[in-house]
Amino acid sequence: MKNLKSNSRTKEQLERMEIVEKLNVCPFCEEGLEKIHKLPIEKETINFFVTKNAFPYEGTSHHYLIIPKKHIREVLEISPKMWAEIGELFNWIVESIPMKFGGVFLRFGDLHRSAASLEHLHFQILSGTKSDKDKDKKSVKATLGYK
Ligand SMILES: [Zn+2]
Repeated sequence: MKNLKSNSRTKEQLERMEIVEKLNVCPFCEEGLEKIHKLPIEKETINFFVTKNAFPYEGTSHHYLIIPKKHIREVLEISPKMWAEIGELFNWIVESIPMKFGGVFLRFGDLHRSAASLEHLHFQILSGTKSDKDKDKKSVKATLGYK
């Protein structure tokens, strides 16, 4: 299992990654979700779980994850049927919150280039808290790679 502590964003996330190393479990595989993630599974399909991000990005009002049940590392391991499940779960999140605006992304490949902290693929669905008309607006930062 390969994770990249240097890509963690907060002290708490770094501490969790150190626990992950000590226990030698993936935080997004089933055992890790129970022992480390600890937040409830909001919805489940044949191949995926939906849960909230334990470390939501600063400034988000919602930050959900769609996580494959299997320890999938490569984006091409996601079959067309699995993409359909991801679409269903995405729609479920957007409808059930409801989420009227937001973004979705998946980092994949070399952690040193994608800026992901975990090799276990996961989709991020999030929305901010302010509009572009707010005087003190700042954007939600999500690193998707490096220049
Ligand atoms: Zn895993």
